[in-house]
Amino acid sequence: MQKNTLNMATIAPRKTTIPVKIGNTVIGGSEFVVIAGPCSIESHEQFLETANAVKAGGAVMLRGGIWKLRTSSKSFQGLGNEASSFIKEVVKKVGLPLVAEITDPRQIETLDPLVSVYMVGSRNMHNYSLLKELGLQKKPVLIKRGFAAFYEEWVKSADYVIQGGNENVILCERGIRTFENITRNTLDLNSVVYAKAHCQYPIIVDPSHAVGVTHLVQPLAMAAAAAGCDGLILEVHPKPEDALSDGQQALTPKEFNQLMTQLKKVLIAFDRPLAKI
Ligand code: PEP
Ligand code: MN
Repeated sequence: MQKNTLNMATIAPRKTTIPVKIGNTVIGGSEFVVIAGPCSIESHEQFLETANAVKAGGAVMLRGGIWKLRTSSKSFQGLGNEASSFIKEVVKKVGLPLVAEITDPRQIETLDPLVSVYMVGSRNMHNYSLLKELGLQKKPVLIKRGFAAFYEEWVKSADYVIQGGNENVILCERGIRTFENITRNTLDLNSVVYAKAHCQYPIIVDPSHAVGVTHLVQPLAMAAAAAGCDGLILEVHPKPEDALSDGQQALTPKEFNQLMTQLKKVLIAFDRPLAKI
């Protein structure tokens, strides 16, 4: 008999997704989840305006960076501790759970009363001491794929959280570095469809960081939904031209609404309900 030379990608699908519950929202279940908000929380006003806009547009969870990991140490690094009281107020007022990045275990004390999900950014996917610390927490952990990480490295990073006893892990594909540099990164939908077939974690997609240009976010969001991911995380800013980080890829509230209108058509075609509050 001919030797089986098939590669890993040809192994038949075998995994079902283990859903993660966040308040009334379930990621990895039958419903498609949209998370949206600013790249960075810049002020009370900006966060409140964005949060209200994305809620009105159909997002069921908020995003917003409090500590930022920027390529240049001179770029805006996030408001940090000083923003915590108004963030708490906005989250309570708007009534949607917050996803925010944790860049250091020492931030747990500040973040714990604010967030419903800890996000591990692309640059920290290999930060195993941070992942181990989050394994000791009860809240779900969203692990973004390292921009130069293999699929296997990305999925195995979740083990560091699981082994500590926290089984609530969600993975996020946010674009990888390839030879193609026409856009910020390359959205690896291959890995998304592979992960849906081969790993148990809910998979969401971040088209904002993957492509890095506002007008290309919507088509990639639709492609990701059609590919069968469990949800999206999107950057929205009331005035992208004034944003302190990632303005070039931020959707205005109007563009967010347009994206949601198109996304709903894709979800209907695939018989996938959109999660609502
Ligand atoms: C972000 O979500 O704002 C962010 C910094 O993303 P990433 O870690 O994927 O670069
Ligand atoms: Mn960003």
